[in-house]
Amino acid sequence: MIGCDCEVCRSNDPRDQRLRCAAVARTQGATVLIDAPPDLRAQALRAGLRKIDAVLFTHAHTDHVMGFDDLRRFTDAEGNLPVYGDAHTLARLRQAFDYAFDPSCKYPGYLHAIPHIIAGPVTVGPLTFQPVPVPHGRFTTNGFLIHEAGCPKLAYLPDCSDVPPPAREVLRKVPVLVIDGLRERPHPSHLSVSQAVEVAADLGAEQTYLTHIAHDFLHARREPTLPPRVRLAYDGLCLTV
Ligand SMILES: [Zn+2]
Ligand SMILES: [Zn+2]
Ligand SMILES: [Zn+2]
Repeated sequence: MIGCDCEVCRSNDPRDQRLRCAAVARTQGATVLIDAPPDLRAQALRAGLRKIDAVLFTHAHTDHVMGFDDLRRFTDAEGNLPVYGDAHTLARLRQAFDYAFDPSCKYPGYLHAIPHIIAGPVTVGPLTFQPVPVPHGRFTTNGFLIHEAGCPKLAYLPDCSDVPPPAREVLRKVPVLVIDGLRERPHPSHLSVSQAVEVAADLGAEQTYLTHIAHDFLHARREPTLPPRVRLAYDGLCLTV
Protein backbone atom coordinates (compact mmCIF):
# COMPACT_ATOMS: atom_id res chain seq x y z
CA MET A 1 0.00 0.00 0.00
CA ILE A 2 1.50 3.32 -1.03
CA GLY A 3 2.52 5.34 2.01
CA CYS A 4 1.83 2.54 4.50
CA ASP A 5 4.39 1.59 7.16
CA CYS A 6 2.54 -1.41 8.61
CA GLU A 7 4.50 -4.58 9.31
CA VAL A 8 3.15 -6.27 6.18
CA CYS A 9 4.13 -3.41 3.89
CA ARG A 10 7.62 -3.35 5.46
CA SER A 11 8.02 -7.15 5.48
CA ASN A 12 11.01 -8.69 3.71
CA ASP A 13 9.15 -11.95 3.13
CA PRO A 14 8.53 -12.08 -0.65
CA ARG A 15 5.12 -13.65 0.06
CA ASP A 16 4.07 -10.34 1.67
CA GLN A 17 5.06 -8.30 -1.38
CA ARG A 18 1.79 -8.45 -3.23
CA LEU A 19 1.23 -7.09 -6.73
CA ARG A 20 -2.21 -7.07 -8.32
CA CYS A 21 -4.17 -10.22 -9.13
CA ALA A 22 -3.74 -12.22 -12.31
CA ALA A 23 -3.20 -15.84 -13.31
CA VAL A 24 -1.87 -17.92 -16.16
CA ALA A 25 -3.31 -21.32 -17.07
CA ARG A 26 -0.83 -23.36 -19.04
CA THR A 27 -0.91 -26.82 -20.53
CA GLN A 28 0.61 -28.56 -23.53
CA GLY A 29 -0.61 -26.49 -26.45
CA ALA A 30 -2.29 -23.56 -24.64
CA THR A 31 -1.29 -20.68 -22.42
CA VAL A 32 -4.09 -18.38 -21.29
CA LEU A 33 -3.78 -15.22 -19.21
CA ILE A 34 -6.59 -14.21 -16.88
CA ASP A 35 -6.66 -10.41 -16.42
CA ALA A 36 -4.08 -7.77 -17.28
CA PRO A 37 -3.33 -5.82 -14.08
CA PRO A 38 -1.36 -2.56 -14.04
CA ASP A 39 1.74 -4.50 -12.93
CA LEU A 40 1.43 -7.06 -15.76
CA ARG A 41 4.77 -6.02 -17.24
CA ALA A 42 6.69 -6.63 -14.00
CA GLN A 43 4.81 -9.87 -13.40
CA ALA A 44 5.39 -11.21 -16.93
CA LEU A 45 9.10 -10.39 -16.73
CA ARG A 46 9.39 -12.09 -13.35
CA ALA A 47 7.48 -15.18 -14.52
CA GLY A 48 9.39 -15.42 -17.80
CA LEU A 49 6.10 -15.30 -19.71
CA ARG A 50 6.83 -15.32 -23.45
CA LYS A 51 3.73 -16.51 -25.17
CA ILE A 52 0.00 -16.44 -24.56
CA ASP A 53 -2.75 -17.64 -26.85
CA ALA A 54 -5.66 -15.63 -25.40
CA VAL A 55 -6.62 -13.32 -22.55
CA LEU A 56 -9.75 -13.72 -20.43
CA PHE A 57 -11.04 -10.89 -18.29
CA THR A 58 -12.96 -11.40 -15.06
CA HIS A 59 -14.23 -7.78 -15.00
CA ALA A 60 -13.29 -4.23 -15.90
CA HIS A 61 -11.97 -2.86 -12.61
CA THR A 62 -8.76 -0.87 -13.01
CA ASP A 63 -6.66 -3.35 -11.03
CA HIS A 64 -7.54 -6.06 -13.61
CA VAL A 65 -7.33 -4.26 -16.96
CA MET A 66 -4.83 -1.41 -16.89
CA GLY A 67 -1.90 -3.55 -18.07
CA PHE A 68 -3.76 -4.12 -21.33
CA ASP A 69 -1.28 -2.27 -23.53
CA ASP A 70 1.57 -4.54 -22.39
CA LEU A 71 -0.24 -7.38 -24.13
CA ARG A 72 1.35 -6.07 -27.34
CA ARG A 73 4.28 -8.42 -26.67
CA PHE A 74 1.98 -11.44 -26.91
CA THR A 75 0.29 -10.90 -30.27
CA ASP A 76 0.66 -13.26 -33.20
CA ALA A 77 2.67 -12.35 -36.32
CA GLU A 78 -0.22 -10.17 -37.58
CA GLY A 79 -0.45 -8.33 -34.26
CA ASN A 80 -3.67 -10.07 -33.23
CA LEU A 81 -4.60 -11.35 -29.80
CA PRO A 82 -7.98 -12.91 -28.85
CA VAL A 83 -9.53 -11.13 -25.86
CA TYR A 84 -12.55 -12.51 -23.96
CA GLY A 85 -14.79 -10.70 -21.50
CA ASP A 86 -18.42 -9.87 -20.83
CA ALA A 87 -20.01 -7.08 -22.89
CA HIS A 88 -19.42 -4.44 -20.20
CA THR A 89 -15.75 -5.35 -19.81
CA LEU A 90 -15.11 -5.27 -23.56
CA ALA A 91 -16.88 -1.90 -23.80
CA ARG A 92 -14.65 -0.47 -21.06
CA LEU A 93 -11.53 -1.83 -22.78
CA ARG A 94 -12.64 -0.23 -26.05
CA GLN A 95 -13.09 3.10 -24.25
CA ALA A 96 -9.69 3.04 -22.60
CA PHE A 97 -7.67 1.45 -25.43
CA ASP A 98 -9.56 2.51 -28.57
CA TYR A 99 -6.51 2.07 -30.83
CA ALA A 100 -6.32 -1.66 -29.99
CA PHE A 101 -9.83 -2.16 -31.40
CA ASP A 102 -9.45 0.10 -34.44
CA PRO A 103 -8.66 -1.88 -37.62
CA SER A 104 -7.05 1.23 -39.15
CA CYS A 105 -4.45 1.32 -36.34
CA LYS A 106 -2.49 -1.73 -37.47
CA TYR A 107 1.05 -0.48 -37.06
CA PRO A 108 3.96 -2.80 -36.29
CA GLY A 109 4.27 -3.28 -32.54
CA TYR A 110 0.66 -2.27 -31.86
CA LEU A 111 -1.78 -4.50 -30.13
CA HIS A 112 -4.78 -5.53 -32.20
CA ALA A 113 -7.35 -7.12 -29.93
CA ILE A 114 -9.86 -9.57 -31.39
CA PRO A 115 -12.81 -9.21 -28.98
CA HIS A 116 -15.07 -12.12 -28.02
CA ILE A 117 -18.05 -11.67 -25.70
CA ILE A 118 -18.20 -14.50 -23.19
CA ALA A 119 -21.55 -16.20 -23.74
CA GLY A 120 -20.65 -19.66 -22.47
CA PRO A 121 -17.57 -21.82 -22.00
CA VAL A 122 -14.43 -20.55 -23.76
CA THR A 123 -12.16 -23.19 -25.28
CA VAL A 124 -8.50 -22.56 -26.02
CA GLY A 125 -6.68 -25.72 -27.13
CA PRO A 126 -7.27 -28.44 -24.50
CA LEU A 127 -8.43 -25.90 -21.89
CA THR A 128 -12.04 -24.87 -21.34
CA PHE A 129 -12.97 -21.92 -19.14
CA GLN A 130 -16.49 -22.15 -17.82
CA PRO A 131 -17.67 -18.71 -16.68
CA VAL A 132 -19.00 -18.61 -13.12
CA PRO A 133 -20.80 -15.29 -12.52
CA VAL A 134 -20.43 -14.08 -8.93
CA PRO A 135 -21.40 -10.81 -7.22
CA HIS A 136 -18.62 -8.30 -6.52
CA GLY A 137 -20.40 -5.60 -4.55
CA ARG A 138 -22.88 -3.97 -6.94
CA PHE A 139 -21.01 -5.53 -9.88
CA THR A 140 -20.93 -9.05 -11.33
CA THR A 141 -17.64 -10.67 -12.24
CA ASN A 142 -16.84 -13.87 -14.08
CA GLY A 143 -14.88 -16.41 -12.13
CA PHE A 144 -13.71 -19.35 -14.22
CA LEU A 145 -13.86 -23.09 -13.68
CA ILE A 146 -10.99 -24.44 -15.77
CA HIS A 147 -11.33 -27.86 -17.37
CA GLU A 148 -8.59 -29.75 -19.13
CA ALA A 149 -9.69 -32.48 -21.52
CA GLY A 150 -13.16 -32.39 -19.96
CA CYS A 151 -11.99 -32.68 -16.32
CA PRO A 152 -12.57 -29.80 -13.89
CA LYS A 153 -9.17 -28.83 -12.51
CA LEU A 154 -9.21 -25.45 -10.83
CA ALA A 155 -11.60 -22.58 -10.13
CA TYR A 156 -10.35 -19.00 -10.10
CA LEU A 157 -12.58 -16.37 -8.44
CA PRO A 158 -10.37 -13.42 -7.51
CA ASP A 159 -13.08 -10.79 -6.94
CA CYS A 160 -16.33 -11.77 -5.27
CA SER A 161 -18.40 -10.71 -2.30
CA ASP A 162 -20.49 -13.87 -2.25
CA VAL A 163 -20.75 -17.26 -3.94
CA PRO A 164 -24.49 -17.78 -4.47
CA PRO A 165 -26.12 -21.23 -4.69
CA PRO A 166 -26.00 -21.61 -8.52
CA ALA A 167 -22.26 -20.93 -8.51
CA ARG A 168 -21.77 -23.32 -5.59
CA GLU A 169 -23.48 -26.09 -7.55
CA VAL A 170 -21.07 -25.59 -10.44
CA LEU A 171 -18.03 -25.48 -8.13
CA ARG A 172 -18.88 -28.37 -5.80
CA LYS A 173 -15.93 -30.71 -5.13
CA VAL A 174 -13.59 -28.66 -7.31
CA PRO A 175 -10.05 -30.02 -6.80
CA VAL A 176 -8.41 -26.60 -6.42
CA LEU A 177 -10.19 -23.37 -5.53
CA VAL A 178 -8.45 -19.99 -5.77
CA ILE A 179 -10.73 -17.41 -4.20
CA ASP A 180 -10.91 -13.83 -2.94
CA GLY A 181 -9.81 -13.48 0.70
CA LEU A 182 -9.10 -9.77 0.90
CA ARG A 183 -8.77 -9.13 4.63
CA GLU A 184 -10.06 -9.99 8.09
CA ARG A 185 -12.95 -7.49 8.30
CA PRO A 186 -15.96 -7.77 5.98
CA HIS A 187 -15.75 -5.64 2.83
CA PRO A 188 -18.68 -4.57 0.63
CA SER A 189 -17.25 -6.09 -2.56
CA HIS A 190 -14.79 -8.79 -1.43
CA LEU A 191 -14.90 -11.90 0.73
CA SER A 192 -13.14 -11.73 4.06
CA VAL A 193 -10.86 -14.59 5.08
CA SER A 194 -13.51 -16.22 7.28
CA GLN A 195 -16.16 -15.90 4.55
CA ALA A 196 -13.81 -17.50 2.00
CA VAL A 197 -13.00 -20.32 4.44
CA GLU A 198 -16.74 -20.96 4.85
CA VAL A 199 -17.22 -21.14 1.06
CA ALA A 200 -14.26 -23.50 0.68
CA ALA A 201 -15.61 -25.84 3.36
CA ASP A 202 -19.11 -25.80 1.89
CA LEU A 203 -17.81 -26.61 -1.60
CA GLY A 204 -15.64 -29.45 -0.33
CA ALA A 205 -12.66 -28.16 -2.31
CA GLU A 206 -9.67 -30.45 -1.91
CA GLN A 207 -7.32 -27.47 -1.68
CA THR A 208 -8.09 -23.76 -1.46
CA TYR A 209 -5.83 -20.74 -1.92
CA LEU A 210 -6.86 -17.26 -0.87
CA THR A 211 -5.92 -14.45 -3.22
CA HIS A 212 -6.45 -10.69 -3.76
CA ILE A 213 -4.96 -10.26 -0.27
CA ALA A 214 -4.50 -6.72 1.03
CA HIS A 215 -2.10 -5.88 3.88
CA ASP A 216 -3.99 -7.10 6.93
CA PHE A 217 -1.73 -10.02 7.82
CA LEU A 218 1.75 -11.48 7.45
CA HIS A 219 1.78 -14.64 5.34
CA ALA A 220 4.03 -16.57 7.75
CA ARG A 221 1.92 -15.72 10.79
CA ARG A 222 -1.58 -16.08 9.30
CA GLU A 223 -1.27 -19.20 7.17
CA PRO A 224 -0.67 -21.68 10.04
CA THR A 225 -3.92 -20.53 11.69
CA LEU A 226 -6.04 -21.53 8.66
CA PRO A 227 -7.77 -24.91 8.22
CA PRO A 228 -5.37 -27.50 6.76
CA ARG A 229 -6.90 -27.41 3.28
CA VAL A 230 -6.81 -23.60 3.04
CA ARG A 231 -3.56 -21.82 2.17
CA LEU A 232 -2.62 -18.28 1.26
CA ALA A 233 -1.62 -17.67 -2.34
CA TYR A 234 1.39 -15.48 -3.03
CA ASP A 235 2.93 -13.81 -6.05
CA GLY A 236 4.63 -16.34 -8.29
CA LEU A 237 2.83 -19.36 -6.80
CA CYS A 238 2.71 -22.27 -9.29
CA LEU A 239 0.11 -25.00 -8.89
CA THR A 240 0.24 -28.26 -10.83
CA VAL A 241 -3.21 -29.79 -11.18
ZN1 LIG B 1 0.36 -1.69 5.01
ZN1 LIG C 1 -12.77 -5.79 -8.76
ZN1 LIG D 1 -9.65 -6.72 -7.98
